[in-house]
Parts: sequence; structure tokens; C-alpha cells
Amino acid sequence: MKIGVLALQGAVTEHIGMLSALDAEAVPVRLPSELDGLDALVIPGGESTTISKLLSDYGLTEPIRKLAQQGFPLFGTCAGLVLLAKKVPNLEMEPIGVMDIEVKRNAFGRQVDSFEADLQIPALDNGTFHGIFIRAPIIEKAERGVEILCQLNGRPVAVRQGKLLACAFHPELTDDLRFHRYFLDLLTGDRSSNNPASHSEPLAFYHSEPSASCHSEEAERPKNLSQNKPRKQARDPSLSLRMTRQHHPGDDICKR
Ligand code: GLN
Repeated sequence: MKIGVLALQGAVTEHIGMLSALDAEAVPVRLPSELDGLDALVIPGGESTTISKLLSDYGLTEPIRKLAQQGFPLFGTCAGLVLLAKKVPNLEMEPIGVMDIEVKRNAFGRQVDSFEADLQIPALDNGTFHGIFIRAPIIEKAERGVEILCQLNGRPVAVRQGKLLACAFHPELTDDLRFHRYFLDLLTGDRSSNNPASHSEPLAFYHSEPSASCHSEEAERPKNLSQNKPRKQARDPSLSLRMTRQHHPGDDICKR
């Protein structure tokens, strides 16, 4: 399998490393001609305004959009999720716009700029996944046919629509290969396209501000967090948030 990683800006090498570890041939993509012969494309995190501008300057927006419309698999992480959404009210540039979701950029606000959370992702073997969120977007609305793979505090943070996969967190900044494996399995058909979790009516998630729902008591007390103490576990592990001062490779470029 030959998988391209959009290499205009952002956490490119991390994705290439993950895909290579899964025995895929992973190649950087900067030009439209480099899309030829690929089985899929990953759109990394970074800064969605910058990436969308570069996509347009390099003549990549339209070819990628067309490919996706023909069933070509795409996987977007964080800024990549923003770029795959059809609606992004607070993005100045045009997104690739192929997934039936509405996304709000930088939705968690300054106070919880960067955090980690133990997520429940039933579609992955073994269920839990450590999510690293850096200036993350949130999915505010998902149209019918979009499968919600994971929610955090009642908001979707990972979705799939056919062979389009997107998440608000950064699996490429962990050493857990399962989310990337899930994507590769979509290409080979090892994951059932019959998705019981997808819904038949549009779902909106406007009911509360994500920053408010993520305001666990500790998130309001940054001084505790700055001591890097382990956080008290909430009963539901998907509700446990940790501010992170830890440096992850690649997070500087994503922290915009
Ligand atoms: N805040 C960024 C944006 O909207 C996304 C950050 C990231 O990819 N970690 O583009």
C-alpha cells in the first residue's frame, strides 16, 4: 500500500513514521502529480489556514476533493479534520470540504489549549485510546451517514464517513499504531462498512461550549496541573482530561 502524507506543513514525519511502522509505503506529497498511484492520503495537523492556503497555491485542493468524491480514502488529524469538513465557519480559506460535518476551530479555548484524555473508541481493538489534543477543533454537527467513532464530553472527536476518517486529536504523537491501523484496514476492507453507529438523521452538538464541559474542577486550577500531578480519574474515563506540559514531538507546529 502506498500512502501519501500531505507535506506542506505540520506533523508530517510523525505520520510517515507510523505508516512505515505498519509496513505501508509512506511518501510525502507536495504536488498534484504526487497524488498519482497513491492508495490513500493523510492530512496532518498543523495550522489549517496555512495548510489550506498552501493547498490552494500548489493546486492541490481541487484534485484531492475530486479524488475523495470518487471514494479515495483520506485521513485528517486535527487541522486535517478541519480541512475535511464541509463547513468551518471560522476558517478564512476554503477547506477541501468532503465530509458532512461542521467543525469549529480552536474550540477548547486557551484555558485548555492542550490536554490529554483517555478516550473510548469501541471500533479499535481494546477500546481505549490516549488522545493528545493541541488547539483542537470540535465537531459541532454531523450529517446522516457520518459514523461517530469517539466522543469527549458528549462531543464527537473522531468520525468516519465511508473511507474518510478524521479525528480532533493526534494519534501520530503517541506510539499507539491502532488508529492508523484502523485507517489502513478501511482501505483493505478489513473493517466492515456496515456501521451500526452511524445515524440516519443529522446530529447537532451545539448544546454547550466544549470549553465549559471540559471545565473539570482541575482544568480551572492550572497551578495543580503545572505541577504535573496525576489527575483524579473521573468515573467515565472519556471525561478525564489532563492539561499537558509535556512536549510531544511535532506539537510546536500544531500549536497555532
Ligand atoms: N488550531 C489548529 C487549526 O485550526 C489545529 C491545531 C492542530 O492541528 N493541532 O488549524
